[in-house]
Amino acid sequence: MRDPLPAGLPQGAYVAKFVVAVDGPAGSGKSSVSRAAARVLGFDYQDTGAAYRALAWHALRYGVDLDDPAAVVASWDTFRYQIGTDPDDYFVRVGDTDVTEAIRTPEVTAAVAHIAKLPAVRAKLVQLFRDVMRRADAPGIITEGRDITTVVAPDAEVRILLTADESVRMARRSAEVTTQTPEETARALARRDQADARVVDFMNAADGVTTVDSTDLDFDQTVQAVVDLARTATTPQD
Ligand code: C5P
Repeated sequence: MRDPLPAGLPQGAYVAKFVVAVDGPAGSGKSSVSRAAARVLGFDYQDTGAAYRALAWHALRYGVDLDDPAAVVASWDTFRYQIGTDPDDYFVRVGDTDVTEAIRTPEVTAAVAHIAKLPAVRAKLVQLFRDVMRRADAPGIITEGRDITTVVAPDAEVRILLTADESVRMARRSAEVTTQTPEETARALARRDQADARVVDFMNAADGVTTVDSTDLDFDQTVQAVVDLARTATTPQD
């Protein structure tokens, strides 16, 4: 297993050779698709939503008032975040606590919007994401989120917007979430998309971004579409 974030190495010692940026709305399957595609390509994989979730978890744990932007930004100072970027060894830690599962609860999911709307928090996280990409020790990295193609890595070799019809996304998400009714899950997903869309545009492909619509694709076909785009970009053209 690869060391996900080699500690103590000089900055830039491990420069990711190739970056695949993937954006998309909730339930588009971007996390599982990106992780599977990274496995096929022998790349690292970075889930950026996990960092927003982990910071929300951290703020909730310490009783930070999420309606107080200054308090939320201040909680960054005690935020010790670590993520596994090996697709076969995915974990999220805050300090010594493994929060891989804890950051997926509806409570944390509902709290994330308070965090994600703050420009000061976003700026810090963008730096953190770039740092993770620089340190990746695989030949490339797939980084997925909402603003990867536009803000975090606008110069990525491959930029993809992964979409699917809302009804399909809701059905897929309800199949994953067992603690809510399908209706509650659908309402939460729509609410989250609305809140997120006020902060970044992840519904429309920016210039140079390829849209992969998975509405009529199964999981393997969607992974293959991402892998094909990456392979086409790595193959020298005559
Ligand atoms: O991808 P995931 O659904 O886990 O993301 C959780 C939340 O983190 C999103 O609803 C959004 O508010 C925020 N996010 C973001 N920018 C990213 C990734 C996630 O604002 N690049």
